[in-house]
This record gives sequence, C-alpha cells and structure tokens, in this order.
Amino acid sequence: MQKSNIIIAIDGYSSTGKSTFAKLIAAKLGYIYIDTGALYRAVTLSAIDHRIISENNTIDNSALEKLLEKTVIEFRTTGENGKSETYLDGKNVESQIRRLEVSNKVSYIAAIPAVRNFVDSMLKGYGEKKGVVMDGRDIGTAVFPNAELKIFMTADPQIRAERRLQEMIQKGENPDRDEVLKNLLERDYIDTHREVAPLTQAKDAIVLDNSHMTLDEQMNWILDILHKR
Ligand code: C5P
Repeated sequence: MQKSNIIIAIDGYSSTGKSTFAKLIAAKLGYIYIDTGALYRAVTLSAIDHRIISENNTIDNSALEKLLEKTVIEFRTTGENGKSETYLDGKNVESQIRRLEVSNKVSYIAAIPAVRNFVDSMLKGYGEKKGVVMDGRDIGTAVFPNAELKIFMTADPQIRAERRLQEMIQKGENPDRDEVLKNLLERDYIDTHREVAPLTQAKDAIVLDNSHMTLDEQMNWILDILHKR
C-alpha cells in the first residue's frame, strides 16, 4: 500500500462514475477528495444568474472576467464522513449545480481560458499538501502532470446515460432519456475539442473502462495497483 501521500488524478468522460470512485478511494486512503467539476459548475451557475451566458450559449467574456474577480467558491465539510458541499459566494449551491440547465452550459463556460485559470489556481492550492484525489478532465494532463497516479475513466455512452438517468430519478427529477444522452455526448465533444486543456488521456494514465464493472470490482482493481507500487 502507498506509504507516502500522493496526488491521484482521475480524468475521464462525463458520468463514468469518477466522483463516486474518487470519493471511495479518498475515504479508503484517508485522503481529501476534490470534485473539480463542481468548481466549473459553480462558475456556470453564477454566469447564468448574472445573465452572462445566453439561451444559445453566447458568452459575454469581459463580464465573465469581471465576475470571476469577485466570485468566491468553497467546499465546506458537512461533518458527515468527510463529505463536503459547494458554496458559491457564501450560499450552498450543491444541488443547484447538478441541474440539467447547468450541465447543458458548463462545457461552454469551462472552455474559457480565464475560467480555467481561475479554477486551476484553486486546484494548485489543494494539491500542494498532497494526499488528494481529484477528478476532472485535465487533472493528469494540465493541472498536475506530475501526479503520481493517473486513471483515465471511460464507459459505453448508453451505459453512462442510463446511470445518469437513474441518479436524476433518485433525486426526484423526471429526466428525458434522449436529452440526458444528448447532453453527455455534447459535453464529451466540447470537452475533447476545446483549445485549452482538452480532455485527453495522459500518456502515463491507466485506463479503466467500467462499463461492466461493479464499484467493488473497481475498488479491487485500484487497490491492487496501489499495493503493487
Ligand atoms: O465532472 P463534471 O461532470 O461535474 O464536470 C462538469 C464539466 O466541467 C465537464 O463537462 C467539463 O466541461 C468541465 N470540467 C473541466 N475540467 C475539469 C472538470 C470539469 O473542463 N477538470
């Protein structure tokens, strides 16, 4: 098992179960878990609230840059088992940032360089102490290219859409299957094609295709990797 604290970077496509997996690893190793997508989602929510992104996803870049100067995003622990929630300008936005409206717009906002700089500077601070598991799109490639362990997660899009659908149904929402799949594929496309820090597999990342794997199987898989190191 890992003796010293390291950075574990988990990148991959939307709804591959990165956050569930990353949280479990963090709990197992006594590490801190950082949901980097939540930061992009919180910026997006703020941009929607301030009408900086339009219905058809046109963005007022200079207004967005000004907004970032006064935006404060924090993770506050709930006291429950290392669980934390996202706060935007002092307000708990944990459930709001998961809504489909935010999911539909987040990849457009995340493609803006000023937004990436804003989030990266927060992430660098979290990474300094090591002993962290971060999940996102560019952690092993752009944010922490020297991360000691990099995992690249992927799964069949239909299976990912089904998982996301079930998650939303459990939250009491009434999602449309086609819209959920469309959102996933659209985000995959934008995330892999943007100019700055696109989603791509780091050369030294280990691929985990969990289309047909249970969470237990995924945990055994990573614990085996950590034991061998
Ligand atoms: O992980 P999650 O699905 O919550 O991320 C939401 C969006 O935030 C992604 O689709 C992507 O556009 C953006 N993101 C990113 N880089 C990261 C994490 C998330 O661009 N490291």
